[in-house]
Amino acid sequence: MKRKVEELGGRRSFFRKLGAAAAGLGAASVLPDATLEGAMQGVNKSSMPSQLKITDLRVAVVTGAPFTCPIIRIDTNQGLSGYGEVRDGASKTYALMLKSRLLGENPCSVDKVFRKIKQFGHAARQAGGVCGVEMACWDLAGKAFGVPVYQMLGGRFRDRVRLYADTTEVEDGHAQGRRLKERMDHGLTFLKVDFGVNLLKDKPGTLNRPAGAPAAGSDMVMHPFTSLAITDKGVAYLSDFVAAIREEIGMEVPLASDHYGHIDVNSCIRLARAMEKHQLAWMEDMVPWQLGHLMKQIKDATETPILTGEDIYLKEDFAKLVDMGAVDMIHPDLASAGGILETKKIGDYAQERGVAMAMHFAGTPVSFMANVHCASATENFIALEHHSIEVPWWEDMVTGLPKPLVKDGHAVAPDAPGLGIELNPDVVKQHLLKGEGYFEPTPQWDTERSWDRLWS
Ligand SMILES: [Mg+2]
Repeated sequence: MKRKVEELGGRRSFFRKLGAAAAGLGAASVLPDATLEGAMQGVNKSSMPSQLKITDLRVAVVTGAPFTCPIIRIDTNQGLSGYGEVRDGASKTYALMLKSRLLGENPCSVDKVFRKIKQFGHAARQAGGVCGVEMACWDLAGKAFGVPVYQMLGGRFRDRVRLYADTTEVEDGHAQGRRLKERMDHGLTFLKVDFGVNLLKDKPGTLNRPAGAPAAGSDMVMHPFTSLAITDKGVAYLSDFVAAIREEIGMEVPLASDHYGHIDVNSCIRLARAMEKHQLAWMEDMVPWQLGHLMKQIKDATETPILTGEDIYLKEDFAKLVDMGAVDMIHPDLASAGGILETKKIGDYAQERGVAMAMHFAGTPVSFMANVHCASATENFIALEHHSIEVPWWEDMVTGLPKPLVKDGHAVAPDAPGLGIELNPDVVKQHLLKGEGYFEPTPQWDTERSWDRLWS
């Protein structure tokens, strides 16, 4: 039988891929010939990428990962399923409302599908549905053709993707530094820490308001309109806090920072200048990304790198900030930026203008692997966030990959087709949001309609 198979010549690898795909296997290229015969007998002649059609979109909403994350599954007419993920904290409705626009489309035409639905995305979590669908289409295209996503993007620039981890804040700088040092002891080579007005609330004379007063007003009020300022004493306190951290971790590990509070631009500038001697990797989202001219004021006034991007949707708004010189680095969240290909385009655009790209991420291993494939294939990549180091079951949600997914502070884009993962139903079912089912039918979204054209 082996000889007969070999006589098929070029069709041999083709049938291998189809056989593996039909059997739902992760690694398509490892079927022994004895298995191949059986797999070929099971091949449906309609199981062709060019004939692949989307037939369903279902959701499983996981919670405690540490955030709430809707995982989506797109099913097809050939038994292949692809996975994607709506951004952490976003509603599953952002994906479900797209279902009627996706039924009958070929998911292998990833960019065509994306252009059809991208009008339904917007900044931050509102882009979550579009981006989750885009990830699932790449997963399906990869499974249909037997190719990993990174390869479809043009191939790897690096074997290992460097990760960075945020660390929630404690009051004492040395204690915080020791917590960060623990991360280094576990292999992480890039750190992030939060510090800002939360550390000053009960310190008299550090803010332009009495101690104990609400620090930032309503969370919905943007920074220029809170009239909240940090005093010289407050700036000195936060500088001492970071100095204590540096004493614990040393100067030779990158340390990024975030969450200063909704303070005014001049406070941002004074804080960023005070941080120059601590050599931060970046200061993140000091003012809302929409206010690029204010971000440029800060960037022009300090040598501390200024970065934003986790809430920006599509390349155009990244391009504006890069072109006006408002940022030293960009920081897209792939589940808000427009998905895998758009994020690579954003990275490439920034690279041509001398700007590097870090990546924000806070979801499950489904979206994580979408990020790892993109990071592998984007040259100006610096580091990808990992927000779930303390969640013991996080990696158990998926199978099909060598474990651990995170080793020595890095992750590897797998060679298996698509994203390279399958779900572990037992683990995912244990962590569903209360009241949510495991990929239950969604016929109520089959016929959602409107006249979608954006011009007349
Ligand atoms: Mg952030």
